Amino acid sequence: MIFVVCGPGGVGKGTLVKRVLDLVGEIDLSRSWTTRSPRQGEDPGAYVFVGREDFEAKVRAGGFLEWTEFPGTGHLYGTPRPEAGLGEFRDLLLEIELDGARQVRRDHPDAVVILVIAPSISVQEERLRGRGDDEQSVARRLAVGRDEERLGRELADHVVVNDDLERAAGELAGIIETYRKRMETT
Ligand code: 5GP
Repeated sequence: MIFVVCGPGGVGKGTLVKRVLDLVGEIDLSRSWTTRSPRQGEDPGAYVFVGREDFEAKVRAGGFLEWTEFPGTGHLYGTPRPEAGLGEFRDLLLEIELDGARQVRRDHPDAVVILVIAPSISVQEERLRGRGDDEQSVARRLAVGRDEERLGRELADHVVVNDDLERAAGELAGIIETYRKRMETT
């Protein structure tokens, strides 16, 4: 099964997803490709950081499950197609933005889409600042985020409010377990 966690920047998707991995086990987290440069202090394994040429070559080769240009930044992000047999587990977890989630849903109607939102705009703003985004980028991401939340609510099967990490991770893990159980009984 494919589980797609999407939502505006600064809602804490990354931290939430890491916690969920510990809670549910036996699920592969997809590592995206991006043309943006690593942030200071960012885990070098957070993405496969590539140049635009390499990214575009992979697009031409049909190597992405979905990909998009992130609004306002011009950076490209994409989920590499999981190669048959390479993933360790049956289930795949993606942490991506909304346009990508829409593509996954189009190509895999059974994919479960979960929208994560911040409890308030001010919390989201604080989180964006806290990870070192500059003022222009914070403002741009908040604007994009408002649209993302609205459209995300139309697309998503579930909405999780990231008010408290443990609570939200528990809710998300519960959603995944529910679908897994459902699969086992069908
Ligand atoms: P950031 O630059 O802050 O790491 O990520 C910017 C946005 O791109 C986030 O909303 C993140 O979820 C999204 N993103 C990360 N990887 C992918 C991907 O492979 N595909 C898509 N569509 N979005 C991604």
